[in-house]
Amino acid sequence: MGFLDRFRKREDKEVLWTKCDSCKSLLYIPELRANLNVCPKCQHHFNMPSKERLQHLLKDFYLLFEDIKPADPLNFKDTKSYKERLKQAQEQTTLSEALLVAEGLLVDERVVLAVMDFNFIGGSMGSVVGERFYRACKHASNRELPLIAIITSGGARMQEGILSLMQMAKTSIGTGYLKRKGLPYITVLTDPTTGGVSASFAFLGDIILAEPKALIGFAGPRVIEQTIKQQLPEGFQRAEFLLEKGMVDMVVHRKELKDALYNLIKFTTYWRRHVEV
Ligand SMILES: [Zn+2]
Repeated sequence: MGFLDRFRKREDKEVLWTKCDSCKSLLYIPELRANLNVCPKCQHHFNMPSKERLQHLLKDFYLLFEDIKPADPLNFKDTKSYKERLKQAQEQTTLSEALLVAEGLLVDERVVLAVMDFNFIGGSMGSVVGERFYRACKHASNRELPLIAIITSGGARMQEGILSLMQMAKTSIGTGYLKRKGLPYITVLTDPTTGGVSASFAFLGDIILAEPKALIGFAGPRVIEQTIKQQLPEGFQRAEFLLEKGMVDMVVHRKELKDALYNLIKFTTYWRRHVEV
Protein backbone atom coordinates (compact mmCIF):
# COMPACT_ATOMS: atom_id res chain seq x y z
CA MET A 1 0.00 0.00 0.00
CA GLY A 2 1.42 3.36 -1.05
CA PHE A 3 1.78 6.25 1.28
CA LEU A 4 -1.10 8.11 -0.32
CA ASP A 5 -3.50 5.16 -0.10
CA ARG A 6 -2.73 4.75 3.53
CA PHE A 7 -3.24 8.43 4.13
CA ARG A 8 -6.58 8.40 2.32
CA LYS A 9 -7.83 5.33 4.10
CA ARG A 10 -7.08 6.82 7.42
CA GLU A 11 -8.41 10.20 6.42
CA ASP A 12 -11.81 8.61 5.71
CA LYS A 13 -11.87 7.27 9.21
CA GLU A 14 -10.51 10.55 10.51
CA VAL A 15 -7.44 8.81 11.83
CA LEU A 16 -4.45 11.02 11.51
CA TRP A 17 -1.67 8.78 12.69
CA THR A 18 0.59 6.34 10.92
CA LYS A 19 3.58 4.21 11.79
CA CYS A 20 7.02 4.79 10.32
CA ASP A 21 7.97 1.91 7.99
CA SER A 22 11.50 2.02 9.30
CA CYS A 23 11.60 2.90 13.03
CA LYS A 24 7.93 2.06 13.76
CA SER A 25 7.41 5.38 15.57
CA LEU A 26 3.89 6.68 15.71
CA LEU A 27 3.68 9.73 13.45
CA TYR A 28 1.08 12.48 13.17
CA ILE A 29 0.29 12.62 9.45
CA PRO A 30 -0.12 16.42 9.03
CA GLU A 31 3.23 16.83 10.78
CA LEU A 32 4.80 14.18 8.56
CA ARG A 33 3.55 15.94 5.43
CA ALA A 34 4.80 19.28 6.70
CA ASN A 35 8.17 17.57 7.14
CA LEU A 36 8.20 16.65 3.41
CA ASN A 37 7.09 13.10 4.21
CA VAL A 38 10.32 12.37 6.06
CA CYS A 39 10.11 10.66 9.46
CA PRO A 40 11.32 13.22 12.02
CA LYS A 41 12.64 10.43 14.25
CA CYS A 42 14.76 8.30 11.89
CA GLN A 43 14.76 10.36 8.65
CA HIS A 44 13.07 7.58 6.68
CA HIS A 45 11.92 9.05 3.35
CA PHE A 46 8.32 8.05 2.57
CA ASN A 47 7.37 8.33 -1.08
CA MET A 48 6.16 11.78 -2.00
CA PRO A 49 3.16 12.48 -4.26
CA SER A 50 4.23 14.26 -7.45
CA LYS A 51 2.00 17.27 -6.83
CA GLU A 52 3.54 17.87 -3.41
CA ARG A 53 6.99 17.49 -4.90
CA LEU A 54 6.19 20.03 -7.58
CA GLN A 55 4.80 22.52 -5.09
CA HIS A 56 7.85 22.11 -2.90
CA LEU A 57 10.41 22.62 -5.65
CA LEU A 58 8.88 25.14 -8.05
CA LYS A 59 7.00 28.39 -7.92
CA ASP A 60 5.06 30.17 -10.68
CA PHE A 61 4.82 26.90 -12.57
CA TYR A 62 2.42 25.66 -15.19
CA LEU A 63 1.75 22.07 -16.20
CA LEU A 64 2.64 20.81 -19.65
CA PHE A 65 1.29 18.00 -21.86
CA GLU A 66 -1.69 17.24 -19.61
CA ASP A 67 -3.72 16.80 -22.81
CA ILE A 68 -1.78 13.61 -23.58
CA LYS A 69 -3.90 11.02 -21.80
CA PRO A 70 -3.50 7.26 -21.41
CA ALA A 71 -5.48 4.84 -23.57
CA ASP A 72 -5.82 1.07 -23.64
CA PRO A 73 -4.41 0.11 -27.05
CA LEU A 74 -4.23 -3.63 -26.30
CA ASN A 75 -7.61 -3.89 -24.58
CA PHE A 76 -5.72 -5.50 -21.73
CA LYS A 77 -7.30 -7.33 -18.86
CA ASP A 78 -5.80 -9.21 -15.92
CA THR A 79 -7.75 -9.41 -12.67
CA LYS A 80 -9.15 -6.04 -13.65
CA SER A 81 -9.33 -4.28 -17.01
CA TYR A 82 -6.59 -1.75 -17.73
CA LYS A 83 -9.23 0.92 -18.39
CA GLU A 84 -10.61 0.33 -14.92
CA ARG A 85 -7.13 0.38 -13.39
CA LEU A 86 -6.40 3.72 -15.06
CA LYS A 87 -9.67 5.22 -13.91
CA GLN A 88 -9.07 4.07 -10.36
CA ALA A 89 -5.52 5.45 -10.32
CA GLN A 90 -6.72 8.78 -11.69
CA GLU A 91 -9.40 9.07 -9.04
CA GLN A 92 -7.13 8.06 -6.18
CA THR A 93 -4.23 10.30 -7.10
CA THR A 94 -6.10 13.12 -8.89
CA LEU A 95 -3.40 12.81 -11.54
CA SER A 96 -3.86 12.09 -15.25
CA GLU A 97 -0.74 9.89 -15.43
CA ALA A 98 2.30 8.69 -13.48
CA LEU A 99 4.46 11.54 -14.81
CA LEU A 100 3.74 15.23 -14.65
CA VAL A 101 5.76 17.87 -16.41
CA ALA A 102 5.93 21.54 -15.48
CA GLU A 103 7.90 24.64 -16.31
CA GLY A 104 8.53 27.10 -13.53
CA LEU A 105 11.03 28.75 -11.22
CA LEU A 106 13.42 26.87 -9.00
CA VAL A 107 14.18 29.81 -6.71
CA ASP A 108 15.05 32.25 -9.54
CA GLU A 109 16.13 29.74 -12.18
CA ARG A 110 13.67 28.79 -14.92
CA VAL A 111 13.63 25.01 -15.35
CA VAL A 112 11.53 22.17 -16.74
CA LEU A 113 10.65 19.57 -14.13
CA ALA A 114 9.38 16.03 -14.75
CA VAL A 115 8.06 14.23 -11.66
CA MET A 116 6.93 10.63 -11.33
CA ASP A 117 4.39 9.36 -8.84
CA PHE A 118 4.59 5.85 -7.39
CA ASN A 119 0.95 5.93 -6.32
CA PHE A 120 -0.12 5.91 -9.97
CA ILE A 121 0.12 2.19 -10.99
CA GLY A 122 3.50 1.86 -9.30
CA GLY A 123 5.02 4.75 -11.26
CA SER A 124 5.09 2.45 -14.27
CA MET A 125 6.12 3.75 -17.69
CA GLY A 126 3.54 3.38 -20.44
CA SER A 127 3.21 5.32 -23.71
CA VAL A 128 2.06 8.51 -22.01
CA VAL A 129 4.86 8.62 -19.44
CA GLY A 130 7.33 8.07 -22.28
CA GLU A 131 5.74 10.62 -24.58
CA ARG A 132 5.47 13.29 -21.89
CA PHE A 133 9.07 12.78 -20.89
CA TYR A 134 10.20 12.94 -24.52
CA ARG A 135 8.26 16.17 -25.02
CA ALA A 136 9.67 17.56 -21.77
CA CYS A 137 13.14 17.05 -23.27
CA LYS A 138 12.16 18.77 -26.54
CA HIS A 139 10.44 21.60 -24.69
CA ALA A 140 13.48 22.19 -22.45
CA SER A 141 15.76 22.03 -25.47
CA ASN A 142 13.66 24.49 -27.53
CA ARG A 143 13.40 26.88 -24.60
CA GLU A 144 17.08 26.39 -23.70
CA LEU A 145 16.21 25.37 -20.16
CA PRO A 146 17.67 22.72 -17.85
CA LEU A 147 15.63 19.58 -17.22
CA ILE A 148 15.25 17.98 -13.80
CA ALA A 149 13.58 14.58 -13.43
CA ILE A 150 12.41 13.26 -10.04
CA ILE A 151 12.08 9.56 -10.55
CA THR A 152 10.32 6.67 -8.89
CA SER A 153 9.16 3.67 -10.85
CA GLY A 154 8.38 0.00 -10.64
CA GLY A 155 9.36 -0.33 -14.31
CA ALA A 156 7.53 -0.75 -17.58
CA ARG A 157 3.73 -0.84 -17.61
CA MET A 158 2.96 -4.42 -18.53
CA GLN A 159 -0.63 -3.59 -19.51
CA GLU A 160 0.79 -1.80 -22.57
CA GLY A 161 3.16 -4.62 -23.55
CA ILE A 162 5.72 -3.82 -26.22
CA LEU A 163 4.47 -0.21 -26.53
CA SER A 164 5.65 0.29 -22.99
CA LEU A 165 9.12 -1.14 -23.69
CA MET A 166 9.50 1.11 -26.72
CA GLN A 167 9.42 4.11 -24.40
CA MET A 168 12.89 3.20 -23.19
CA ALA A 169 14.34 4.04 -26.59
CA LYS A 170 12.19 7.15 -27.02
CA THR A 171 13.03 8.67 -23.64
CA SER A 172 16.73 7.94 -24.18
CA ILE A 173 16.59 9.74 -27.54
CA GLY A 174 14.85 12.66 -25.80
CA THR A 175 17.77 13.27 -23.46
CA GLY A 176 20.00 13.61 -26.53
CA TYR A 177 18.30 16.91 -27.46
CA LEU A 178 19.55 18.45 -24.22
CA LYS A 179 23.01 17.00 -24.65
CA ARG A 180 23.39 18.50 -28.13
CA LYS A 181 22.63 21.95 -26.76
CA GLY A 182 24.83 21.54 -23.71
CA LEU A 183 21.85 21.88 -21.38
CA PRO A 184 22.00 20.14 -18.00
CA TYR A 185 19.80 17.13 -17.37
CA ILE A 186 19.71 16.19 -13.69
CA THR A 187 17.97 13.12 -12.30
CA VAL A 188 16.91 12.45 -8.71
CA LEU A 189 16.37 8.75 -8.01
CA THR A 190 13.91 8.14 -5.20
CA ASP A 191 12.61 4.97 -3.58
CA PRO A 192 12.12 2.79 -5.60
CA THR A 193 13.69 3.38 -9.03
CA THR A 194 13.68 0.09 -10.92
CA GLY A 195 13.04 -1.67 -14.22
CA GLY A 196 12.75 0.02 -17.60
CA VAL A 197 12.92 3.51 -16.17
CA SER A 198 16.22 2.87 -14.39
CA ALA A 199 17.46 1.25 -17.62
CA SER A 200 16.60 4.34 -19.67
CA PHE A 201 16.25 7.99 -18.71
CA ALA A 202 16.91 7.61 -14.96
CA PHE A 203 20.59 6.77 -15.41
CA LEU A 204 21.16 9.08 -18.38
CA GLY A 205 21.37 12.18 -16.19
CA ASP A 206 24.49 14.33 -16.48
CA ILE A 207 24.33 14.42 -12.70
CA ILE A 208 22.51 11.68 -10.81
CA LEU A 209 21.27 12.37 -7.30
CA ALA A 210 19.54 9.89 -5.03
CA GLU A 211 17.52 10.12 -1.83
CA PRO A 212 18.87 8.32 1.27
CA LYS A 213 18.36 4.55 1.35
CA ALA A 214 16.38 4.57 -1.92
CA LEU A 215 16.16 1.19 -3.64
CA ILE A 216 17.71 1.64 -7.06
CA GLY A 217 18.32 -1.10 -9.59
CA PHE A 218 17.00 -2.95 -12.60
CA ALA A 219 15.69 -6.27 -11.28
CA GLY A 220 14.81 -6.62 -7.59
CA PRO A 221 17.29 -8.22 -5.15
CA ARG A 222 15.19 -11.38 -4.76
CA VAL A 223 15.16 -12.04 -8.50
CA ILE A 224 18.93 -11.55 -8.71
CA GLU A 225 19.58 -13.83 -5.73
CA GLN A 226 17.44 -16.55 -7.25
CA THR A 227 19.14 -16.19 -10.62
CA ILE A 228 22.78 -16.15 -9.54
CA LYS A 229 22.17 -18.37 -6.48
CA GLN A 230 24.31 -16.16 -4.29
CA GLN A 231 23.56 -13.96 -1.35
CA LEU A 232 23.85 -10.27 -2.10
CA PRO A 233 25.97 -7.93 0.05
CA GLU A 234 24.40 -5.80 2.77
CA GLY A 235 22.74 -2.65 1.44
CA PHE A 236 22.94 -3.88 -2.17
CA GLN A 237 20.95 -1.59 -4.54
CA ARG A 238 20.55 1.10 -1.91
CA ALA A 239 21.51 4.70 -2.72
CA GLU A 240 24.57 4.70 -0.42
CA PHE A 241 25.91 1.48 -1.94
CA LEU A 242 25.51 2.90 -5.44
CA LEU A 243 27.26 6.08 -4.40
CA GLU A 244 30.19 4.04 -3.11
CA LYS A 245 30.35 2.16 -6.42
CA GLY A 246 30.18 5.37 -8.48
CA MET A 247 26.72 4.76 -9.97
CA VAL A 248 25.22 7.88 -8.43
CA ASP A 249 26.93 11.22 -7.79
CA MET A 250 25.33 12.43 -4.56
CA VAL A 251 22.94 11.18 -1.90
CA VAL A 252 20.85 14.14 -0.79
CA HIS A 253 18.38 14.45 2.08
CA ARG A 254 14.99 15.66 0.87
CA LYS A 255 15.25 18.82 2.95
CA GLU A 256 18.44 19.76 1.14
CA LEU A 257 17.31 18.73 -2.32
CA LYS A 258 16.02 22.10 -3.47
CA ASP A 259 19.26 23.87 -2.53
CA ALA A 260 21.34 21.11 -4.10
CA LEU A 261 19.42 21.29 -7.38
CA TYR A 262 19.59 25.05 -7.44
CA ASN A 263 23.35 25.06 -6.89
CA LEU A 264 23.87 22.41 -9.56
CA ILE A 265 21.80 24.37 -12.08
CA LYS A 266 23.77 27.55 -11.31
CA PHE A 267 27.03 25.68 -11.64
CA THR A 268 26.21 23.79 -14.84
CA THR A 269 24.74 26.80 -16.64
CA TYR A 270 27.43 29.27 -15.58
CA TRP A 271 29.25 29.12 -18.91
CA ARG A 272 26.06 29.90 -20.84
CA ARG A 273 25.85 33.22 -19.05
CA HIS A 274 29.50 34.13 -18.81
CA VAL A 275 31.44 32.53 -21.64
CA GLU A 276 31.29 33.78 -25.22
CA VAL A 277 31.15 30.94 -27.70
ZN1 LIG B 1 11.09 6.59 11.42
